[in-house]
Amino acid sequence: MPSGPCVTSVSQRASPIPCPDPMTPDSHAPAPTAPPPLSIRVLGCSGAIAAGSRTTAFLIGDDVLIDAGTGVGDLTLAELARIDHILLSHSHLDHVLAIALLADSVLAQRQAAGRPPIQVHALAPTLAALRDHIFNGVIWPDFTRLPSAEHPALEFVPFEHGDRLVLGGKTIEVLCALHTVPAAGFAVQGGAGGDDAGGWWVFTGDTGPNPLLWQRLQSLRVEQLVIEAAFGNAERALAGISRHLCPATLGAELAALGAPLNACVDVYITHVKPGELDAVMGEIARIETPHRIRPLAAGQVMRLG
Ligand SMILES: [Zn+2]
Ligand SMILES: [Zn+2]
Repeated sequence: MPSGPCVTSVSQRASPIPCPDPMTPDSHAPAPTAPPPLSIRVLGCSGAIAAGSRTTAFLIGDDVLIDAGTGVGDLTLAELARIDHILLSHSHLDHVLAIALLADSVLAQRQAAGRPPIQVHALAPTLAALRDHIFNGVIWPDFTRLPSAEHPALEFVPFEHGDRLVLGGKTIEVLCALHTVPAAGFAVQGGAGGDDAGGWWVFTGDTGPNPLLWQRLQSLRVEQLVIEAAFGNAERALAGISRHLCPATLGAELAALGAPLNACVDVYITHVKPGELDAVMGEIARIETPHRIRPLAAGQVMRLG
C-alpha cells in the first residue's frame, strides 16, 4: 500500500474494550471458535549486551522475525531455517547484526530444500545502509547476490510507513518512528485477520517522542504495547539527542495512548541497558497512568489473539 507517511485506511473498532486483569488465568483464553493465539517470542529486548542481555529481536509465529539483534543467536538451527521474513525497524547495529550470520547459518539447508531467499523488509534507506555498510564484500559478502544472482540467500524488499504487509498469514502494519536514522515500528494483528479480528501487538521501535504514532493508534485496538525506554531520567538530554525515550518523556507519550479505544493497555518496556533495569523501572513506577507497565524479558512468549 504505497501511501504518504503514516497514512493508513484501516477501519476503526466502534466501541472501547473492557480491561481484564492480565493475571487472571482465563483473561487471554480464546473463545471456542477463535483461532489459536499468535505467539510472539521475545528473543532479545536489551539496549546492549552482557551475560543474559540480548539486543532486540522478536519471533512472530515461527517464520517472521522483527529485528535481528543478538537474541537471534538463541534459536536452534532448525528454528533459524524456518525464518522466511525479517522486518527491520532501522539500520542500527543492535537491530541488524544477526542478519549476516543468520544468512550464512541456514544457506545450505534452505537451498538444499529448494526454499526461496529470506526476504528482508525495511525502509529503502535502511536497505541501502545494509548494502553499503555490511553486505559490501568487506564487512560481509553480498548475500543478495550469493551464492548466485539467480538464487541468493537474501532478498531485500522495501516498505513504506503505512504499508500493511501480509507475511506467512500474519498482518503487519509499518508504523512511524522518529529516530536519528530513518526508522519504523510495527503493529501485528491478532486473530485470523480482518477488521473484526483480535487486537494488535505494537512495537514502537527506537524512537523519541512520536505524535504520529499516537495519532495512528487512536484507531487501532492495542492489546500489548512494547515501547522503548533506552535511558534513565539522569540521561534525559542524551535521550533527546539520540532520539530515544526516558521515563520522563515516556509518561508524556503514554498520556496520548488512551480512551476510548485504548483506555487500559498492557505496556512492556524494552531497550533498557544491562544493569539499569531496576533504576529505570523505579522511575517509570512514578508515572501516573491507567496502563499496566512492566519490563519485557528475553525468553518471554507473548500471546496475541
Ligand atoms: Zn537505534
Ligand atoms: Zn536500538
